[in-house]
Amino acid sequence: MRAYMFYGPGDLRLEDVEDVHPGPGEVAVEVKAAATCGTDLKSYRRGHPTLFPELPARFGHEFAGIVTEVGEGVTKFSVGDRVVAANSAPCGSCWACTIGRESLCENLQYLNGAFAEKIVIPAPIVARNTYVIPESLPFEAAAPLEPLSTVVHGMHESGIALGDTVVINGAGPIGQMYVKLAQLRGATVVVADRSQSRLEQAEAAGAAHIVNLTGLDTPEECADAVRPFTPGGRGADVAIEAVGLPAVWEQTVLQLRPGGTALLFGGTPKDAPFSVNSSAMHYKEYTLKGVYHHQPRYVQIAVELLSTGKFDGMSLCTEVRPLEALVESLEDMAAGKGSKYILQP
Ligand SMILES: [Zn+2]
Ligand SMILES: [Zn+2]
Repeated sequence: MRAYMFYGPGDLRLEDVEDVHPGPGEVAVEVKAAATCGTDLKSYRRGHPTLFPELPARFGHEFAGIVTEVGEGVTKFSVGDRVVAANSAPCGSCWACTIGRESLCENLQYLNGAFAEKIVIPAPIVARNTYVIPESLPFEAAAPLEPLSTVVHGMHESGIALGDTVVINGAGPIGQMYVKLAQLRGATVVVADRSQSRLEQAEAAGAAHIVNLTGLDTPEECADAVRPFTPGGRGADVAIEAVGLPAVWEQTVLQLRPGGTALLFGGTPKDAPFSVNSSAMHYKEYTLKGVYHHQPRYVQIAVELLSTGKFDGMSLCTEVRPLEALVESLEDMAAGKGSKYILQP
C-alpha cells in the first residue's frame, strides 16, 4: 500500500509501505477521502513534537472510508461499513476525564496516517470516536469531522442563544463552520477578515454583515470596525477568535458588549501572551473562554450534523484532488490559494 511518510519539516514522501492489519480492538479502513487541515500545514512547515514524537511518521488525521478488516474483540463494526473517525480519543480514567473535561485528557491517543490507501484506527478511537455514516453522506463530506467536532465544542462553551449578535474573527474553515452553526442557533452573524474572497464565502453562507479589516492595524481599530453592526453599537453578545493570533485575541475581547463572552478558539504560537484591560474585564463583566479540541459527545453531535445535512461538509472544500497532490495542496494552502483540499487515494 502507499502512504505518506513525514520525515521532518518540508519533507513529506509518498512511499510503498507494508500493508496494515488491525490488532485487538482496532479496525483497518480503506481511505476513500482525506482532508487537509491547518494543523497539517503547521506540522509540514515546522514539525509537531506532540503529534509526531518519532520520525518518520504517518501523516494526516481527517478521513472517511470503508472497513476492510476488524481486529479481535471488535463488535461495533463489520467489514464493508462506511465509517468516519475523530483524530483522538480520551482515556476515560484520568482526573480530567473523570470530571467530564475529556478534551483535557492527560492520555489523549492521537491517530495519524489518513493520507494513505489504508489506515488502522487505534482501539480507544474505535471504542469511543468512530461512527458508521449513511449512504447519503459522501466520504468527502464526512472527512472534516475533527474540526467540526472542535467547533461544536466551541459552540457549547459560547452559550450563543437565539437573537444574539455574534462576531466571528477569521473566515477560514473554522470561521466558516462557526458562521453556519451560530445561525443554526438563531444568531445574527458578523464576520471580520482581511480576505475579500473568504468574506464573500461567509456572506454566501448567511453572514448578515462582512467587515474587511484590510488597512486597519491595531486591535482597537479592528474592534471599532465591527461595532456599528452590533445592536445599539454596544458590541457583540459573543465574539469568536478563529485566527490564532494574539492581536486578534485582543481585538475579540474589545468587540464585546458589557457582559459579553469571548470565545478564544484559535491556537496561538507557544507562550505568546495577550493583554486584556483588567478594569474593563471587571466593570464590564466579560467572560473569556479558551477552547481546545473536542469530546466524544461533541464528535457524536458533529457526525449527526454531517449525516443529516444540517452542516454540509463539502462547503469547506476548495477542491477534490488525487492523493499524489498532497504536497502541492499544502503549498497552495500556504500561498492562500485554498483552505481545505480533499484527497482521494
Ligand atoms: Zn484537522
Ligand atoms: Zn483521560
